[in-house]
Amino acid sequence: QIIGRHRPTIAHINLAAIRHNIQAELQRAKPGTEMFAVIKANGYGHGLVEMARATLAAGATGLCVAILDEALVLREAGITAPILVLGVTPVTWAQIACEHNIALTVGDQQWLTDAAPMLTGQLRIHLALDTGMGRIGFQKPTELADGLTVLAQYPNKFNFEGIFTHFATADEADHRYFDHQVQRWQAMMAVVPRRPRYVHVSNTATSLWHEACNGNMIRFGVGIYGLNPSGGSLTSPYPLEPALRLTTRLAFVKRLAAGDSVSYGATYTARHDEWIGTLPIGYADGYPRRMQGFYVLVDGQRCEIVGRVCMDQLMVRLPREYPVDALVTLIGEDGAETITMQDIATYAGTIHYEIATNLNMRIQRVYE
Ligand code: PLP
Repeated sequence: QIIGRHRPTIAHINLAAIRHNIQAELQRAKPGTEMFAVIKANGYGHGLVEMARATLAAGATGLCVAILDEALVLREAGITAPILVLGVTPVTWAQIACEHNIALTVGDQQWLTDAAPMLTGQLRIHLALDTGMGRIGFQKPTELADGLTVLAQYPNKFNFEGIFTHFATADEADHRYFDHQVQRWQAMMAVVPRRPRYVHVSNTATSLWHEACNGNMIRFGVGIYGLNPSGGSLTSPYPLEPALRLTTRLAFVKRLAAGDSVSYGATYTARHDEWIGTLPIGYADGYPRRMQGFYVLVDGQRCEIVGRVCMDQLMVRLPREYPVDALVTLIGEDGAETITMQDIATYAGTIHYEIATNLNMRIQRVYE
């Protein structure tokens, strides 16, 4: 569903980097630890189905998505691996998950009671425990015990396949809140008489920096794509290889006279005569509007983004005349210079997760 095949704006995805990141993580994990690759939000912008195939080929044994529809797209693409939907799916659609052998997350007893009469077969479920993320899940051991009682009442409706929690501060140096969550996790797990097949607590940050906590499966997300979940404040135990490069080509090149302005609001005025290049990418592609004043790479040189970023185009100041079609790097390496996703996130005042997932379907993905 890419709408952008006839434009030079391309996200290049390095499949060898994806493979490297997954295998480095699996080699580090305790033997027997399975990896479910978190490929929600279009594989963090890298492509949903392509990331499913690449991660499974590299050693992941299952997939995590956020919403049921992402799981259905994977099933339609012929992917038969286990899939877990991490968000809450309204009971109305539980039967669809059941029919497609998709596991759902359950965070309260009521959901089970409501879903049971609607299911014609056995639905795989993972119980979410809220140990301090404050998002979804059972909050108290007594609530969990009640949920387990409902599960026991409907052995033909529910396959209790997994139990998990999610940490709020695994990417921070201060461990106090993390330890508090571990304690709550242990208190809740004490009421589970028989552990299900998958016990999982680790996103990328937990698995990198608190690996002793890993259950028998990890939900490895941002690390797949070679991004450090802490944004660089903590060092990864092995080098993560960023998998995505974003490039385009000059669409228009012109000479601006001193005193001429660029883009909406005329917020940039040339002080000298200068060369300006126009790039076919803008905030409607997911490149943030706040990037005015940042830079792109042309011919190994930093070129400032001048004037406001438009919806579909942006302008840069070139050191000299370059021809239309000259290569421009927005994320990645050119000569001695590199722009990382984190550089963009830092400048835009956000996290690389947001930059990656905002790259949308107007940008062609090329797998190399
Ligand atoms: N597990 C859950 C429940 C999540 O919501 C997410 C993503 O937000 C992940 C795992 C993967 O996180 P990360 O990309 O930081 O590894």
